[in-house]
Amino acid sequence: MALYVKNDSGPSVPAGVEDPKPSGIRVIIVGAGFAGLAAAIECTRKGHSCLVLESYRKTNVQLGDIISFGSNAGRIFDRWPGVPDKLASICHVSDHTTFNDWKGEHIYTQYWTPHEQSFGKRYNGHRGEIHKIVFDHAVEQGVEIRLGQQVTEYFESDQGAGVVSDGERITGDVVLGADGVRSKARMLVLGYDDKPKPSGYAIYRAWMDSTELAKHELTKDLVTNGDTHTGWLGPDIHFLAASIKGGRDFSWVFTHKDERDVDEGWAEPGDHDDACRILKGWDPTVHAIVRMTPPEKLVDWKLVYRDPLPTWVSPLARTALIGDAAHPFLPTSIQGASQAMEDGACLAVCLQLAGRKDVPLALRAFEKMRYERVRRVQKTGETTRDKWHKADFENIKKNPEAIRMKREEWILAHDAEDHAYQAWLDAVAELERAELERAELER
Ligand SMILES: Cc1cc2nc3c(=O)[nH]c(=O)nc-3n(C[C@H](O)[C@H](O)[C@H](O)COP(=O)(O)OP(=O)(O)OC[C@H]3O[C@@H](n4cnc5c(N)ncnc54)[C@H](O)[C@@H]3O)c2cc1C
Repeated sequence: MALYVKNDSGPSVPAGVEDPKPSGIRVIIVGAGFAGLAAAIECTRKGHSCLVLESYRKTNVQLGDIISFGSNAGRIFDRWPGVPDKLASICHVSDHTTFNDWKGEHIYTQYWTPHEQSFGKRYNGHRGEIHKIVFDHAVEQGVEIRLGQQVTEYFESDQGAGVVSDGERITGDVVLGADGVRSKARMLVLGYDDKPKPSGYAIYRAWMDSTELAKHELTKDLVTNGDTHTGWLGPDIHFLAASIKGGRDFSWVFTHKDERDVDEGWAEPGDHDDACRILKGWDPTVHAIVRMTPPEKLVDWKLVYRDPLPTWVSPLARTALIGDAAHPFLPTSIQGASQAMEDGACLAVCLQLAGRKDVPLALRAFEKMRYERVRRVQKTGETTRDKWHKADFENIKKNPEAIRMKREEWILAHDAEDHAYQAWLDAVAELERAELERAELER
């Protein structure tokens, strides 16, 4: 194997500036979720040409419920002309979260401090609506998206990589497997079929119109005071509710223990009686919310967990996994979709700096820059969940700050694009060192 060659030209384009020159790199992206679309838009900004293959036949604004993007993702959206205004018109606006214990007693109100606000804009809203804005932007930027395409096979050589999609062989310089928790691209990358594990938890979740809630004594305050964000915490359960669009829409989720087998589906219909049984003894307000949820809006979403993959990059480094395909997150990290977007911003820069002649270097440098960061962020999902589910309420009454959600600067103030430019030479040098050591051992 040839040794890596450092890109002597070094970073040439500052973050936030598109490279107008076509790079000649053809990127094939499987999956038009947030990982795939963000990668396509970011790659287009850097002059690479992109083809996205997606199995669903049409976009559906109704699909899903609340999804959260931290300011580390907000910074990426903010570089896409026209997108921030469109997002702002549909996203949740509030500067605090009210926490109650499971019986409904107020324990703490957490405001975003000026320092935390300085990290940047956050966007929380309906997944389907945000997805449509991003999808349309990708199309406007010239990304080719083919819907109704089922990718069944991945392959690669020293010269390039490709997929078989609906029986057609499609090749490019690089393939990005943005195909979600049930990724097929993993087979090529890992050489084996990686099975999901139950996390031991599932989430009931819903997105609904708030008209009925506004009429009910127990729930009206949640939807008639503009946007609100409220959490109820108790043993092994947390219940979060948000109103959006000035209180017109309402979304709630609650995480609960779940011992059933893993079904790889992301959601199944929920049952009101089951949900209320799990919430036995909880604040009547949360029961009212659950009971007022239209049956067709209630889903029970199993939280599938996977051990960290040993690598996200295929043996010949022409295919990389991104987003949930590489690293599924627990919702309590509030970072799954944001990290999926960071992947795309970082990869686009790596491909730009490596150039078409050295795509494998780009993918290996991408993994080097992202792997440890993503691991650390993934762990925050477990720590927040444990903090909430194992809360000592006697202690919290004396010291309410103990329940404060950590808003970590290293996660939220991160600029994935800028960081990729800055970390590039070090990542390449580290890869070179590792390659030399390996060659030394083989001699
Ligand atoms: C329908 C849907 C609704 C969701 N709703 C929510 C929500 O309400 N709240 C929330 O927090 N998270 C939700 N998620 C998950 C969340 O969007 C992701 O965790 C996160 O955004 C990371 O995105 P991703 O692009 O890596 O994966 P995903 O969003 O899962 O996207 C993967 C895409 O790849 C496509 N795909 C998979 N296999 C193939 C194949 N063989 N050929 C072609 N295409 C393929 C899928 O159709 C999918 O569109 C939802 C995911 C989906 C798919």
